[in-house]
Amino acid sequence: MKTGLRDFLSGLKDLFFPPVCLICKTRLAAGRRDVMFCHSCMDAIEFVREPFCTCCGRGFRNSAGGSHLCSDCLAGSYHFSKARALFRYDDSVAKLLHSFKYGGHTTGLATFGALKKRIAHLEELNGQDFIVPVPLHPKRLKQRGFNQALLLAKIFFPDQKDKIHPALMERRRWTEPQTSLKGKDRRKNLKNAFVVKDRIRVEGKKILIVDDVFTTGTTVDECARTLKQAGAEDVQVLTLARVDG
Ligand SMILES: [Zn+2]
Ligand SMILES: [Zn+2]
Repeated sequence: MKTGLRDFLSGLKDLFFPPVCLICKTRLAAGRRDVMFCHSCMDAIEFVREPFCTCCGRGFRNSAGGSHLCSDCLAGSYHFSKARALFRYDDSVAKLLHSFKYGGHTTGLATFGALKKRIAHLEELNGQDFIVPVPLHPKRLKQRGFNQALLLAKIFFPDQKDKIHPALMERRRWTEPQTSLKGKDRRKNLKNAFVVKDRIRVEGKKILIVDDVFTTGTTVDECARTLKQAGAEDVQVLTLARVDG
């Protein structure tokens, strides 16, 4: 598209849909569509920063020891080798996620993609053969109309779209929403909920799972367990946000 025409169309878009901050809805400067946060929300949002657990990504309050393994990971609690996220989960991020997931407001996606590129520690997540968004149960997918994890995978890895395989794993069993459950019940609820559809393709492969939130890690860990059981060599995880438990 010619530059003049592109500018004209972008001007029209600003006129009819003026860009606003995704969190506080403050009007942004015309043409601001890469990172749609106003300055104060950008300052307030908590990005995941070191020190954190080198495996599960849990943040450490005391920065003296640098990044190292947390006690859960030393005990070998997870089936993935590394989990990383963009944001710490707080009220603003919760609001942002809610409007994306339940309100279907996908305008924030470009912002998430642009911010992911700026976070150096996310570059550690590379070399994967496949990128697999956490699957939704078909009934849930029908209700919601889209899988938020698939949209995130596409915006996080625009140059690796050929590696994104949403159908590699399926959610066969209908489960209660994890938010209503605690600890052991979360694990029980999800046990064997996922199925790898094509074991031959998974064998010996490095797989990156994408999801919206890492809460206790139960969902992504059950995916990792299922993939490892099907022969995957290594499983890593990327989520938009992480709850620090
Ligand atoms: Zn704002
Ligand atoms: Zn850990």
